Amino acid sequence: MPISRAAVLDWITASAGAIAAERAALDRLDAAVGDGEHGTNLDRGFQAVLGKLPDLADQDIGAILKGVGLTLVATVGGASGPLYGTLFLRMGAATAGKAELALDDWTAALAAGVEGVVARGKAAPGEKTMVDALAPALAALRAAAEGSGLEVALRRSAAAAREGMLATVPLVARKGRASYLGERGAGHQDPGATSAHLLLATAAATLAREEGRAV
Ligand code: ADP
Ligand code: MG
Repeated sequence: MPISRAAVLDWITASAGAIAAERAALDRLDAAVGDGEHGTNLDRGFQAVLGKLPDLADQDIGAILKGVGLTLVATVGGASGPLYGTLFLRMGAATAGKAELALDDWTAALAAGVEGVVARGKAAPGEKTMVDALAPALAALRAAAEGSGLEVALRRSAAAAREGMLATVPLVARKGRASYLGERGAGHQDPGATSAHLLLATAAATLAREEGRAV
């Protein structure tokens, strides 16, 4: 069963809910290593996305994801706004014109998105950024795509993002505001890796579901 347009809309809506629920926790993580507004920034962006969704709802998946990206670029700010904007814009470009996505399409879309984040932010794995959750999630998806169904692949991808997120704790940040802290930043989980995991865990919970869809 492929990923439908309705499932993508569900993912975006549920992501906005998850970010809102975790806003304070993301702010707290960012307060330890940065300026304490990662959750507030992302929540503002995803609430704006929710406002745009009715206009996007009858479009193809590429246009929906592009609309999400443009809205995030315009509303989130900080380092993560352009990066998450790029993630969604590239995912949208990779899925342009599509009304449904097979597992391979989703994998190609995430690959394009993660490549965009890396091209823009220049973070390598292990530099304590959102890439530490995104890159393992993509690798797990590629490995799972070899013979698993969509649901299993999405779950493995989310599990890899979680491991990557947890593995940021001992790292010293080499990119972004947290890098100003140097060694003192070790011992804290990266806020961007945490929000990236949230998006991928929400993807696993929504994209392969056929029943109970709100849209
Ligand atoms: P700011 O750092 O401007 O306050 P946010 O608090 O919204 O922005 O986002 C911080 C997160 O952005 C970090 O936790 C990290 O995951 C991510 N980040 C910062 N710089 C980069 C980069 N160059 N590449 C990838 N991710 C980055
Ligand atoms: Mg911040």
